[in-house]
Amino acid sequence: MNVENKILKESLPYGNTQNAIFSNSDWEIIGKSAGNKDITGKRLNGKPESKKALLIGGVHGNETEGIRFMEEFVREFALNKSVSPVDCEIYVIPVFNPDGFLKFQRGNENGVDLNRNMPTKDWSDIYTEQKYFPGSRPCSEPETSVMMKVINDYRPDFIISFHSWKPMININGPARPFAEVMTKKLNMEIVEDIGYPTPGSLGTYAGWERKIPTITLEFERGVVLDSIYPLARDAILDTLAVL
Ligand SMILES: [Zn+2]
Repeated sequence: MNVENKILKESLPYGNTQNAIFSNSDWEIIGKSAGNKDITGKRLNGKPESKKALLIGGVHGNETEGIRFMEEFVREFALNKSVSPVDCEIYVIPVFNPDGFLKFQRGNENGVDLNRNMPTKDWSDIYTEQKYFPGSRPCSEPETSVMMKVINDYRPDFIISFHSWKPMININGPARPFAEVMTKKLNMEIVEDIGYPTPGSLGTYAGWERKIPTITLEFERGVVLDSIYPLARDAILDTLAVL
């Protein structure tokens, strides 16, 4: 782990509870991970009758770039306040996979890739590398049940999940109008197909199968973490303003 990632890890709640940014009582515990860690979320109120966006960080626990974006977003808009910076309502889940985050690994406590465990029609138990282990069956992991419950109960009109790999805006479902706004300031390629199959992914579950516009935003892996939020902040706000 490089120094910056270590600092970030310690600055986040699961690394150092004394500095917990989620210690405010208004954070909601929406479920538990396989390793029995809290998964927390918070609602930022929009204009009356507004649409709803869901922002998720850290589905992959070692993709610190996306978690860093969520951390900064939370610091600016969700600490001790609960009003959306745009018209739409926003629900934030900064660290969806606390087990992986604490261990700086992709999967959860059971080593399951949570972006391969959703109960999609194309779910498969075949995997090419250990890091893509999809679990023993669809929805074998408690985190997956939490995601399904959030989608079912909250009923988001738009989802962004923040990851890091090769920079790209991966769209699933009717998300292209959002991606086209997003890329104006982010300058990233919009792709429907990332080049290999992703059965059991959130994009397939929410985007293709439930027609909820879903963007998997891949920041560049390994960039200076301090550069992430200044790079993406306005692009994300502009994108949310589409709702
Ligand atoms: Zn990822």
